[in-house]
Amino acid sequence: MRYDWATATHVGRVRSGNEDAVFPHGAGAGEGSMLIGVADGMGGHVGGEVASRLAVEAASDVDGGVVERVKAANGAVVARALEDPNLVGMGTTLTIAEIADEALQIGHVGDSRAYLYRDGELRQITTDHSLIAELLAAGKITEEDVATHPQRSVVTRALGMARAVRVDHFTEELRPGDRLLLCSDGLTTMIDDAAIAGILAAEEEPEAAAWALVEAANSAGGVDNITVAVVDAAE
Ligand code: MG
Repeated sequence: MRYDWATATHVGRVRSGNEDAVFPHGAGAGEGSMLIGVADGMGGHVGGEVASRLAVEAASDVDGGVVERVKAANGAVVARALEDPNLVGMGTTLTIAEIADEALQIGHVGDSRAYLYRDGELRQITTDHSLIAELLAAGKITEEDVATHPQRSVVTRALGMARAVRVDHFTEELRPGDRLLLCSDGLTTMIDDAAIAGILAAEEEPEAAAWALVEAANSAGGVDNITVAVVDAAE
């Protein structure tokens, strides 16, 4: 299988720094296998930037499956926080995708997301590790409450919190024509799934799609950093 990919990250319209991280940067094409990931740091200005960058670097540096990669990223963030008192309390989400021909593996912790866009339909693969998602699943709030809930940004699982972390693992079969989307919550808190699907349908090139998503999030307010990765699978 052949892949065309692009990533985009933007500070947004409100924050002064970008605490998201993504790998790889830019756009390209490849064949056989590829690794791509999005992280959203937290824990103060410096800490958030360090945590997300460390996570994507560690995840791409180690050998192993996606779960081992996410665990290695957690280890790197925890170890760094122990070395530097200024970084205590930092953490990050991490959602990575490893593609090897038609096999797609996702490793995931936090409230960044992976979606699969296939035959005009957008499906969220990952589950958010957030208070909002837990309240929704428990039936304690409705979809209408999500946008205004005071604790909508509270993450219930993140890297950097403890030496051990539970990593979600998803496996999908990729088909030619599929489009994979990874994104930070700066996209999904600004525009809904229908708007995302509309942009993925309208923009043929991954790079145009990635930047159109960033632009849509900024047009809707851009209150958080926005990071997007788009991978198109072809015969
Ligand atoms: Mg965010």
